[in-house]
Amino acid sequence: MQLETPYYLIDKARLLRNMEKIAHVRERSGAKALLALKCFATWSVFDFMHEYMDGTTSSSLNEVRLGHERFGKETHAYSVAYADYEIDEVVGHADKIIFNSISQLERFADKASGIVRGLRLNPQVSSSSFDLADPARPFSRLGEWDVAKVEKAMDRISGFMIHNNCENGDFGLFDRLLGEIEERFGALLSRADWVSLGGGIHFTGENYPLDAFCDRLKGFSDKYDVQVYLEPGEASITRSTTLETTVLDTLYNGKHLAIVDSSIEAHMLDLLIYRENAKMFANAGPHRYMVCGKSCLAGDIFGEFDFERELKVGDRISFQDAAGYTMVKKNWFNGVKMPAIAIKELDGSIRTVREFTYADYEQSLS
Ligand SMILES: *Cc1c(COP(=O)(O)O)cnc(C)c1O
Repeated sequence: MQLETPYYLIDKARLLRNMEKIAHVRERSGAKALLALKCFATWSVFDFMHEYMDGTTSSSLNEVRLGHERFGKETHAYSVAYADYEIDEVVGHADKIIFNSISQLERFADKASGIVRGLRLNPQVSSSSFDLADPARPFSRLGEWDVAKVEKAMDRISGFMIHNNCENGDFGLFDRLLGEIEERFGALLSRADWVSLGGGIHFTGENYPLDAFCDRLKGFSDKYDVQVYLEPGEASITRSTTLETTVLDTLYNGKHLAIVDSSIEAHMLDLLIYRENAKMFANAGPHRYMVCGKSCLAGDIFGEFDFERELKVGDRISFQDAAGYTMVKKNWFNGVKMPAIAIKELDGSIRTVREFTYADYEQSLS
């Protein structure tokens, strides 16, 4: 029986391709890889990812708890700012805590003295061209950059986290940015035991020069005598998941329109925020449609795509790359039916791991 749409479909065979590349990088470079939960937190596949990765990193109490309870292994805690009421619980779930600022470190250093402590550095250069997602943007609150100030805090920390790549598939650019980090922070790095280079490096993408990447990481690790960490979010799950939808109506208003039983605002919000179109394969043929969501937002549009045949009510449309920053951002806008979550096993069988009901919608508010 075919599953009722809408649903997210995580394909383990496709996920495995990323996992195998991550395992190769760990093996060859000596770096450890932590899943960034803010990108992907669908814990039903954590048991599968577990053997290929070293643990998780987080950006809140909820995430660090999920990482600890559902993934296990190494659990890094980071947050832009911790509140007094949550710090004890955060420390209880983590084996390493990375403070965003020296003032947060000073405030909570004692409470976190039982686990490894670190600080986020901001190198003031990044690969991001989108202001909204640029950690090195002017006046950024993300990390410390003043070496003299950081030096004074060295007695309370043993390592650093630097996250300044963003969807960076260009190894040359990664290499140059890391070089700038070394120039700026080399003296600090030599005094550290570990350095996390954050996420945003698209090393699981096709044609990425994986071995050059590994050698660069290994060289960095040897030079400063540090354990290197990577925090892949998108790179861990890229191209593993689709959003499966069904056409509910077709119209012609100067363009051919097709309305599906989903919503980009509710179910693929990140695309709307960054003004990108959804991805659809094969996207070839003589029939062009603007595929729209069923919320009442005028701009609830997945994109314009080319189809082999005319679309009819009941046709299925599958959007690619529906894992990263997608399932974690789904919401109940318009009360649109929440996509179920299904997993395609390596043997091809599909099982539904979560369905959402009216009760979930009702309980999301009060
Ligand atoms: C967002 C983020 C990540 C993951 O980034 P991806 O682009 O999904 O790989 C890792 N570390 C930190 C500190 C982040 O803010």
